[in-house]
Amino acid sequence: MSGRPARRKSPAGGGVAAAVGTSDVDEDVTALRELAERAGRDLEGASAQDVLRWAHESFGDRFVLASSMADGVLAHLASTVTSGIDVLFLDTGYHFAETLGTRDAIAQVYDVNVRTVLPVLTVGQQEAVYGGRLLQRDPDACCAIRKVEPLARGLAPYTAWASGIRRDEATTRREIGVVEWDARRAKVKVNPLASWTQEQYDFYIADNGILVNPLQFDGYPSIGCAPCTRRVAPGADPRSGRWAQVDDKVECGLHA
Ligand code: SF4
Repeated sequence: MSGRPARRKSPAGGGVAAAVGTSDVDEDVTALRELAERAGRDLEGASAQDVLRWAHESFGDRFVLASSMADGVLAHLASTVTSGIDVLFLDTGYHFAETLGTRDAIAQVYDVNVRTVLPVLTVGQQEAVYGGRLLQRDPDACCAIRKVEPLARGLAPYTAWASGIRRDEATTRREIGVVEWDARRAKVKVNPLASWTQEQYDFYIADNGILVNPLQFDGYPSIGCAPCTRRVAPGADPRSGRWAQVDDKVECGLHA
């Protein structure tokens, strides 16, 4: 994992966070859950920037973004709210070179602090322990080793995390809130783009000249690990190219 600067102090928070005492939130899971649930109601309809601003004011350096490096939308939005926010990237060892290049470009271009998290096992070690082609024989196990555990480890220092998932991406994401309680990890989950449509997303990218993973221009509207991501036909479900080698897998386990 890359190094990170000394923690900045959390700004004096206002709004929803202040109502429950921001300085104590990471000590009190019940208060955190109530805070997340209340913020989810209060911030529904707020702009993505306002949601990010609330999270930054509430949690300071204990707020982190997670990015798959499909593009720099979330990093750009966050950089308009604060300087040097941490961005977690899970390097599974199976990524396309274009995804790693996008990560490096985002780290250079936007005012964020990209932190790369590695699995405990290299790909070679995983094959030695579990045998070859685990991603085909048991993709849930492979995702657990290469994504879910690293995310849990990467999130450990933080109280709240944000992702760029949207309700219109998949039926499994229809019910996500702009702020919600991540019970599995006992953290506040922030989805600033939850209500954005694909059209809004595309407009934001064009209007702000956002960095985009070049694979998106080559038939990959949704990008994961290379062995588990296929090109999709124009107009097809953008996520239909994910885990096309198996019948019933639609999520990696990070968000569902
Ligand atoms: S997306 Fe595929 S290669 Fe990546 S961690 Fe999951 S199963 Fe393994």
